[in-house]
Amino acid sequence: GGEEDLAARPPVVTVMGHVDHGKTKLLDAIRKTNVVAGEAGGITQAIGAYQVSTEVDETERKLTFIDTPGHEAFTAMRARGAKSTDIAVLVVAADDGVMPQTIEALNHALAADVPIVVAVNKIDREGADPTKVRGQLAEYGLVPEEYGGDTLFVDVSAVTGQGLDDLLEAVVLTADAALDLRANPDMDGQGVAIEAHLDKGRGPVATVLVQRGTLHVGDSIVAGTGYGRVRALLDDHGQNVDEAPPSFPVQVLGLTAVPGAGDSFIVVDDDRMARQIAERRASRLRMAAQAAGTKRKTLDQLFDQLEKGEEQELRLILKGDGAGSVEALEDALSKIDVGDEVSLRVIDRGVGAITETNVSLAAASDAVIVGFNVRPQGKATEMADREGVDIRYYSVIYAAIDEIEAALKGLLK
Ligand code: GDP
Ligand code: MG
Repeated sequence: GGEEDLAARPPVVTVMGHVDHGKTKLLDAIRKTNVVAGEAGGITQAIGAYQVSTEVDETERKLTFIDTPGHEAFTAMRARGAKSTDIAVLVVAADDGVMPQTIEALNHALAADVPIVVAVNKIDREGADPTKVRGQLAEYGLVPEEYGGDTLFVDVSAVTGQGLDDLLEAVVLTADAALDLRANPDMDGQGVAIEAHLDKGRGPVATVLVQRGTLHVGDSIVAGTGYGRVRALLDDHGQNVDEAPPSFPVQVLGLTAVPGAGDSFIVVDDDRMARQIAERRASRLRMAAQAAGTKRKTLDQLFDQLEKGEEQELRLILKGDGAGSVEALEDALSKIDVGDEVSLRVIDRGVGAITETNVSLAAASDAVIVGFNVRPQGKATEMADREGVDIRYYSVIYAAIDEIEAALKGLLK
């Protein structure tokens, strides 16, 4: 299809900002459901995506929101070539002001070259100082429109609902001014997986964002190293839909394997082709893993080096209930300051239960297994006891980080 086939598509919006400044609550208020209450430890564990609509200049406009577990995951996805976001909403709590992670989030958004709208949240709170937030961000180059700059700042409260419509309007206006968001809905669907997990009853479940074309039930698709015929599509309310147009986030059922966050998906002609492409991808990944594996030190060598004080390394295998949570955990781990004497290395990561294969890898490489919201499978626990492999279970990211940090400090003595 040519230019004439392009149709306007909704902007895809990522909400970023310092922890506890109200990202989830804000999305929640926009969506008018409550996902915060269900989150373990109040941290966003997996990426959710929702579509909402608002009226701007008497026209119904749709927006797609992505709630990320952190801006590191956003950048990790971007590093893999998955440009999943058109526009960023930077949330800053008006009573707290600009914090270190606010600036990090800002830098990630600037690096991704996406326009930014600032939501000055918690405006209902005593001590809220929205003017101060404007001044602080102006120093970082985000100059409010009312000061002669070109960034829209909107005062909001996720609790009272104040300013939410203005925020949606600001996002739409910023998208209209800065971006040409069009896609051809008549093409085969393609896009990116933003979260995926293994469901006991339903098998691999992937939340994908359709970026071009339309995805239909019955399509043959490849997503990461998974493939299959789309058995069902579920929208953000869990309702079955027949198809998903551009910018539509949808859960896909029917894949053979769980894709990673940031993996692309494409529709192909038939199941056979889907399988071929997926198998080629899988074998390329296996070869890459083998190449990395030959560089892995044996246990003997490692002990030897530890004794001589040449090297101290804590190796980890991460298993979690979703690609988003595994990625968030790995990103948080990479932030731990371990000093110069020890290092921390994630040698393997994956979605799903802890298996005997995980335990044998841990045994072979003297690694600790970190399970996040997952259980052991089959004889994994027995084998771990036998092989002396340490498996640690967590349901809150902070708890995992704290404990691993403490373990590293112990290693340091
Ligand atoms: P996130 O870490 O950025 O996702 O932050 P949350 O959405 O989990 O919010 C952190 C805390 O701030 C929660 O206790 C929320 O209830 C509270 N909160 C969020 N937005 C507002 C707001 O606009 N006003 C007030 N008073 N509290 C808020
Ligand atoms: Mg959150």
